Amino acid sequence: MDYESEAHYMQPIELVANYSVAGDLATVIICGALFFLIKNTLFFESDRSFNKIKGAMIAVSVAAFSNVVFYHFCKLWPDGKAALIVSRDIYHGGLLLALYFTIIYVRGLLLVDDKCLRTVSTVTKVVFIVGTALDFLSPITHFGFYEKNGLWYDSTYIKPYTFVFIYSMVLIVSLMIIYRRRLIKTVCLSLMYTEGVSITVLLIENALESNTYTSFTFILPIISVLILIHSKPYDLTTGAMSASAFNSYAAHTYKKKGMIDIMVLKLELKNRNTVPDELGKILYSFWLGYVREAILFSFSDDTFVLTIKKKNTSEDNTEAIRKLIEEVFPQYYKVYNIPYKIFALYGVDFINTSTELQNIIDYLSETHRSNTVTLADEGLMKKLRTRKDVLKQLKDIAGKNDLDDPRVKVFCQPVKNLKNGSFDTAEALMRLELPEMGMIFPDIFIPLAEKYDLIHPLSMIILNKVCRYIKLLEEDGITISRISVNFTISELTADGFSDEVFKIIENNHISFSKIGVELTESQNYSDYLMVKERVQELKERGIKVYLDDFGTGYSNFDRILSLGLDVIKFDRSLLLMAGEDKNSLFSMRLFSEAFKEMGFNVLFEGIETNEQQEICASCNADYLQGYMFSKPVPIENYRDFL
Ligand code: C2E
Ligand code: CA
Repeated sequence: MDYESEAHYMQPIELVANYSVAGDLATVIICGALFFLIKNTLFFESDRSFNKIKGAMIAVSVAAFSNVVFYHFCKLWPDGKAALIVSRDIYHGGLLLALYFTIIYVRGLLLVDDKCLRTVSTVTKVVFIVGTALDFLSPITHFGFYEKNGLWYDSTYIKPYTFVFIYSMVLIVSLMIIYRRRLIKTVCLSLMYTEGVSITVLLIENALESNTYTSFTFILPIISVLILIHSKPYDLTTGAMSASAFNSYAAHTYKKKGMIDIMVLKLELKNRNTVPDELGKILYSFWLGYVREAILFSFSDDTFVLTIKKKNTSEDNTEAIRKLIEEVFPQYYKVYNIPYKIFALYGVDFINTSTELQNIIDYLSETHRSNTVTLADEGLMKKLRTRKDVLKQLKDIAGKNDLDDPRVKVFCQPVKNLKNGSFDTAEALMRLELPEMGMIFPDIFIPLAEKYDLIHPLSMIILNKVCRYIKLLEEDGITISRISVNFTISELTADGFSDEVFKIIENNHISFSKIGVELTESQNYSDYLMVKERVQELKERGIKVYLDDFGTGYSNFDRILSLGLDVIKFDRSLLLMAGEDKNSLFSMRLFSEAFKEMGFNVLFEGIETNEQQEICASCNADYLQGYMFSKPVPIENYRDFL
């Protein structure tokens, strides 16, 4: 086909006859304004998908600017061939790049990753690369916009640029129609509507042979995406921002090596459902009037977080915060009388997301009483930081699900068997050895792991390592009776617990009887039924089951007796009490003998002195465990006791 026969040859000035700079200038100005808002307010959320929108905005601004330049070249410097071609290429390239960003953004938004879409992605990449290359090569290939003998040729339809453009529009619209169910209806409709308006404008422009508003057609979809998907409006009554805005706030602050002072107000609304309206206004004037440059976040109806940026460590907001807490707050408390908890954290540089902060607020709320103010001292700050870091590692360990995870360390405490004086059993105790934190003890990580449901993967690692060690001892000709492993009730009652335990033991080729399972009592009756079933399953294979911490808190004898356990571990607290008064000693001895009478083995924990050891012996104990014999040692050292 002879393209040139259809072409209209023109002087540069004719190329822009129907063009006005208005559209492109508006594009540049609006993109600039949006960038200003993105950078200087917390109104828009910067996550990864947001970067694609930013990319599209930059590309479209560059394109628009280049088109304005092209227009001026045509009018003022029609002989500058290279300048005309380059500015036109930047225009086309910019718009195509913006379209490409839009496509991957839409794809991310719809959260689809099926085979069909992967093929489409590959095709799209090829279309873009080939199309853009052909477009840029058109001075040589004469496929699009080019010059010949001082005259310029430009066709609206056949050029590669138009092809890619139309391909993209069709793809975006089809994606949105095919996968519309994946978007909230209103968001989907609004996006389709703005997309429709843009396409209409493009068609009209095409008919008028102009590209005045082409770049501008990108603005409408960009603005609607920013508002519908990425905006985090202020709460008008309290002036607070939503919790998710905290993420960008923190990222922004830390990037500039800044720190944040944080003040948390947690109200206990109980039977009120919301904060009274006027209280919202008071909060608003509070943070505006007292602490300059502060931002208020509303994490929930009852939790407000005031943050103050700290550019350097010497800057001190503590006085302002103290004044707020000691002088202003009590006045209002008198009026509203809502119970509260206040926490102030200074110089924070480790809380990155609203979820992390929420976890910290939960922890502080659990550990502090109502109507108290807690100004975090260095010790508490350190603890919060450790908790946060540990939680992150726990999540990572649980996510990796590696039975050999080197971060999980098995310690063990040898247990003295009074029948033969040997240390033929031991209790496995967990430690974590974390990068940059060193050895972490159970008092820190066990409650965290339990709270966030991350304990089970840890237990499985311990069990696996214990089994492997027992196998190793056997291979060296050393026999032990068993090592017991601690499990929580929530793990034990979960589906498939026993099978998982059996599998790990079998995979290590040791006998089931070499493993003990330690569990604590549960107050919950349905748990009890489940535990009973589990204990049965475990015992059928020959695993011994221990009741841990007997004597702490709640004890229901009927239930304990009917579980069919093997060993009862008397908690250290019983021993301490027995050492102090005769009645306690008397009842401890009674319990111990009763258990023995009924066929249980009895183990006393926490023996530190000779005197305690004698008490236990007088109670007819079977096993003794405590610092007196050994502290928990790395499991590799257990063989020294055998
Ligand atoms: P527990 O099961 O009651 O373990 C006994 C704790 O008492 C151990 O602390 C041990 O080091 C300590 N202890 C032993 N002898 C003495 C003594 O003579 N005096 C004193 N003052 N303490 C003694 P550890 O290792 O810090 O573990 C604390 C708790 O963490 C354990 O209490 C257990 O509830 C939990 N834990 C440890 N490892 C695991 C595990 O692998 N899984 C689960 N679910 N919990 C674990
Ligand atoms: Ca235990």
